[in-house]
Amino acid sequence: MSLQIEAIKCAMIGGHSVVRIVASNGVDGIGVAEHHKGTIAQQVLAFRKVLIGMDPTNVERCMRKIRQRGAFKPWGAAVSATEVALWDLAGKAAGLPVHKLLGGKVRDDVRVYNGAKRPPLTDYSPRDYAANCAAIVSYPEGFTIVKQPVAFHGPMKAEISDFYYGTVQTNAYPGTIESGMLTAKGFDHLVACVAAMRAELGPDIGLALDCGPGFTPKDAVRFARAIEQYNILWLEDLVAGDYAPYTRADVFRDICQASPIPIHTGEQIYLRHGFKDLIETRAVDIVGPDPLDVGGIAELKWIAEYADMHGIMIAPHGTGNGLIGLAVLTQVCATLPDNFIAFECPDAHEPLWYDILDGIDDFTIKNSHVHVPDTPGLGVRFNVAKAAAHLAPDDKDFFT
Ligand SMILES: [Mg+2]
Repeated sequence: MSLQIEAIKCAMIGGHSVVRIVASNGVDGIGVAEHHKGTIAQQVLAFRKVLIGMDPTNVERCMRKIRQRGAFKPWGAAVSATEVALWDLAGKAAGLPVHKLLGGKVRDDVRVYNGAKRPPLTDYSPRDYAANCAAIVSYPEGFTIVKQPVAFHGPMKAEISDFYYGTVQTNAYPGTIESGMLTAKGFDHLVACVAAMRAELGPDIGLALDCGPGFTPKDAVRFARAIEQYNILWLEDLVAGDYAPYTRADVFRDICQASPIPIHTGEQIYLRHGFKDLIETRAVDIVGPDPLDVGGIAELKWIAEYADMHGIMIAPHGTGNGLIGLAVLTQVCATLPDNFIAFECPDAHEPLWYDILDGIDDFTIKNSHVHVPDTPGLGVRFNVAKAAAHLAPDDKDFFT
């Protein structure tokens, strides 16, 4: 008798919208949306109409029913969280970790970089950036790659007066796009910050920069050339990315061909189809899909394989994904080809997550790596007795 999906539930726990799918034998699977996306309940609960009664271990057959119900970030979250829950359920039903269902791991330890795991910057000066880098490398995770937000990514554009020829928006959604030419002052400040970070980190720690979007194409190339000597791992989202609902593959290709530093984008893109032009025209050197936005675990693996065929690297996004997302990224990144660099460290956002998720200790980051566990499914499970205490009154049936 094949399994059937009997229930699909959604609740908000500790700042994350979480999905739970329950099969006819009582086995369940869990998925999660990024911290800042708000509830995805309306979209996820609508999937009941087409998924109830289906065999959850036929993940792709289920996905063919719902994949058209997503779009670029944040609108791919519901489909992605559901896909993740199906893999978790399929793994637990088979008694195998998700990475085995994807063909098995090719590495026992997966490299992680800091991403948003850093103290807040204060005045966006070179000294501030250097101190921030020093704090990050002192963390117990032992990060060997540090990524920092500069220019149009984050507050530098507003905190540094006359940084660019444009108007900073206020009261805007995260990822609101501001764009313009850099002033001479802004350009020099930016380069000085990069120099200070490299001097602080020394040659043993990789440095990547999240830059935009917001650069003009020419400023992007001028910036890349000006900091060539600092051995930067990648420049991220210079002209699109973050929450941009488009890719600008042609503009990225112009920049990529002129840049001595690897060019990275893709955290907002939905499905493999969104990466087609970027990969086939070799418009970037590194792609960065997020499994919780791109359409799920299998989607990310497919993109990694296709990128590898074209000489393109992959460094997946994950900053808002929480501790379930840490397990998701570990499982899929264990299976990727040699073009894998590192994934972005998800943050717990609220400390309660360490208390309500059994198995999370297996994902402790040491020496900048997560050891790949062999426990079934994603490798993390809700401690129901503890997690249920954090459910809102309307979500009380989430674990029943
Ligand atoms: Mg980014």
